[in-house]
Parts: sequence; structure tokens; C-alpha cells
Amino acid sequence: MIRFEDVSVTYEGAAEPTVRGVDFEVPEGELVLLAGPSGAGKSTVLGAVSGLVPHFTGGTLRGRVTVAGRDTRTHRPRHLADVVGTVGQDPLAHFVTDTVEDELAYGMESLGLAPAVMRRRVEETLDLLGLAPLRDRPIATLSGGQRQRVAIGSVLTPHPRVLVLDEPTSALDPAAAEEVLAVLQRLVHDLGTTVLMAEHRLERVVQYADRVVLLPAPGAAPVVGPPAEVMAV
Ligand code: ADP
Ligand code: ADP
Repeated sequence: MIRFEDVSVTYEGAAEPTVRGVDFEVPEGELVLLAGPSGAGKSTVLGAVSGLVPHFTGGTLRGRVTVAGRDTRTHRPRHLADVVGTVGQDPLAHFVTDTVEDELAYGMESLGLAPAVMRRRVEETLDLLGLAPLRDRPIATLSGGQRQRVAIGSVLTPHPRVLVLDEPTSALDPAAAEEVLAVLQRLVHDLGTTVLMAEHRLERVVQYADRVVLLPAPGAAPVVGPPAEVMAV
């Protein structure tokens, strides 16, 4: 579902690539943890999946990244919305409307769906993420965990096959983090969504992962494998 073929990314003005030798595949319906210290290139790898790298952040991408068969270098992010949903580090930066319900509907606006289909998808997503009781609430009044769930819901309504998240639990207390991880697990198990999630606090999330991609340091080739194997490195 996600495939990196010998990918390197070099930002403008940098002497060395930020990531190099990135070569791995994620089968459909897996939850993959992208691990590594701050600065190792996790956001860069996620950006290469969602098309933010190179279309918005600049930089030169060598090698090839495909998501559901689409090359992310030749498809701009808005042409990938039905394939990959992206939740950035700061969910607040993400919101464009006022209420929970409007936010879930917003992501579908450019897809040309019938109003009845959009309404049904909003209802499904409210139920799936346990957001129905909060539907009319202004997002500004929600807790961190609730906001993170709204951010996830807003990219789910186009029915992406891949969900990419940058540190979705790092700003949350343990209970809210569990809530978000439970939602992600449900997406993988019930809908077969493929999830790629960056985290630097591994102990919290490693138990949920089918596979780990570890970026040991900037410019170092990743180590890829089952959690127990990679964590032993
Ligand atoms: P991580 O998510 O693991 O913290 P990042 O991918 O955010 O790592 O950053 C890796 C390195 O790339 C950092 O040194 C960062 O400063 C640099 N970097 C990230 N984005 C850009 C950009 N748009 N332009 C130039 N350098 C960048
Ligand atoms: P429609 O276009 O009528 O909404 P789809 O064929 O796109 O139907 O979706 C089929 C079913 O997939 C929906 O009825 C719904 O239960 C389920 N679904 C909900 N969310 C997602 C998602 N994020 N990814 C994949 N399937 C989803």
C-alpha cells in the first residue's frame, strides 16, 4: 500500500540528505510505527507519503514513493486526498471550521459527492470515533484528545486507504493517548486502513504496531522489521 524505493530527501542548502536509503513496503491494513530521535527525519518521511515533500516543503526527493500505486511526486497532495489522509503535529493548525460536524464535512467538499453521501459519511465518522455527543460543539472548547479525534475524523470522511499521523499522542496525557490509539486500532481492524504514525515516545505505542521503521539518526538508513526485532537493535 505504501512503497519507498531507495528514497533520499535533500533540503535546499543542506550538504547531506536528511534521509537516505529509505526502502520499505507497508502492506494494506498494517499499523506501522515510524520511530527515531527528534531531527532524524520522521516528518520528512511522512511528508514524502502525503506529497508535502517536495510539493510544499521544497527539497529534492530521489527514488520513488508510491501510495496505492500513485507516485507522490507526480500527484499533488490534494489529488491524493482520497488515498492518503494526513494529520500534522498540531491539530489546531489543521482546523478550518467552527464545529465538529462542519469540520468532518469540510474535507469532502472538493470530492463532488452528493449531499446525502456526505451526510452519511459524517454520521459514520461521528459514530466510529465516538464524537456523536460532541457534534455541535465548537472545536475550541474540546480537550486535546477530543481535538485529535476530530482532526483524524476530518481526513477520514474522504475514505482514504492510508492514514499518516505525525506524533498524534505526544501532546496528550496517558488517558487521551489511549483513546486516540484505540481509535487508530479500530480503523486498522474494522476498515483495513493502513496507518503510518511517527512517534518518539515508543514505549507508549509500540504494542500497537505491526511493524517498526526506525530512523536511527539524520541521514542514516532505516532499520525495518517487527517491533521486537527492531527494538532489540
Ligand atoms: P523529525 O520529524 O524526526 O524530528 P524532521 O523530518 O522534521 O525530523 O527534520 C529532519 C531534519 O530536516 C531537521 O534537521 C530539520 O531541520 C530539517 N528540515 C525539515 N524540514 C525542512 C525544510 N522544509 N527545509 C529545510 N530543512 C528541513
Ligand atoms: P460511499 O461512497 O457510499 O460512502 P464507500 O464505498 O466509499 O461508500 O464506503 C463503503 C463503506 O466503507 C462505508 O459504508 C463505510 O462503512 C466504510 N468506511 C467508513 N470510513 C471508511 C474509511 N475511512 N475508509 C474505508 N472505508 C470506510
